[in-house]
Amino acid sequence: MSGNYKKLEQLYEGKAKKVFKTDRDNVYIVEYKDDATAGNGAKKGIIAGKGVINNRITNYLMRLLETDGIPTHFIEELSDTETAVRRLAIVPLEVIVRNIAAGSLAVRLGLAEGTKLRSTVLEYCYKDDALGDPLVNEYHIIAMGWASAAELKTISNYAFTINRLLSKHLESAGIELIDFKLEFGRTDDGEIILADEISPDTCRFWDVKTREKLDKDLFRRDLGGVEAAYREVMERLLGRGYRGDRAAAQ
Ligand code: 5GP
Repeated sequence: MSGNYKKLEQLYEGKAKKVFKTDRDNVYIVEYKDDATAGNGAKKGIIAGKGVINNRITNYLMRLLETDGIPTHFIEELSDTETAVRRLAIVPLEVIVRNIAAGSLAVRLGLAEGTKLRSTVLEYCYKDDALGDPLVNEYHIIAMGWASAAELKTISNYAFTINRLLSKHLESAGIELIDFKLEFGRTDDGEIILADEISPDTCRFWDVKTREKLDKDLFRRDLGGVEAAYREVMERLLGRGYRGDRAAAQ
């Protein structure tokens, strides 16, 4: 049943989402925005319809992962742009998984974008806007106390499994998963679970055949067709006539 949570005060406003308290101690509401930023806030804009699309795509993929044994923060889609999620203490890391060289990896190692990597690459960045989310390794993470060695093992195992599951599912929709960013959090019981979003904002998606970009790089690089690409990803995954979970249930 929807709407069982009373939305209380806003706790946080990020670049793409707002987070609200609810009348349940361990439940938050995430609200997705159309606002888009790139280059650590240097470039700002609006991607019309992005909030709705990212909410739906994220929830669809989180549910898919749940059925395959990955614990996530997802509870229930409440509206076009709002979702109830479990309250977590976020691990301050961006966990980046790469199958094909692109973006910052291509720049850092002087690789042509699109170069196939011999094996999957896992990277961590420390989530800190003021520092520009610097690349860190396991030693930094443990030394700084951002996560324990055991937690990192869990996080890396989940990241590789998620990559396998998402790559396979997306491929069946004609989408190649180039790379993506995950975030994890800790429950009150200390369990590590998947948080944040999985969307064209946080993943690189290329059309399998044409290798056209279907993600936020269109916005970052001013390539045009951003809204259409986000919609295309949603429709390939959720179906062309998709009107939302709640509409389907009524
Ligand atoms: P890169 O390091 O190449 O810029 O990004 C690698 C992958 O992680 C891309 O799919 C990108 O969308 C995602 N990613 C990395 N950092 C961020 C971030 O701060 N915000 C968002 N939305 N995605 C990120």
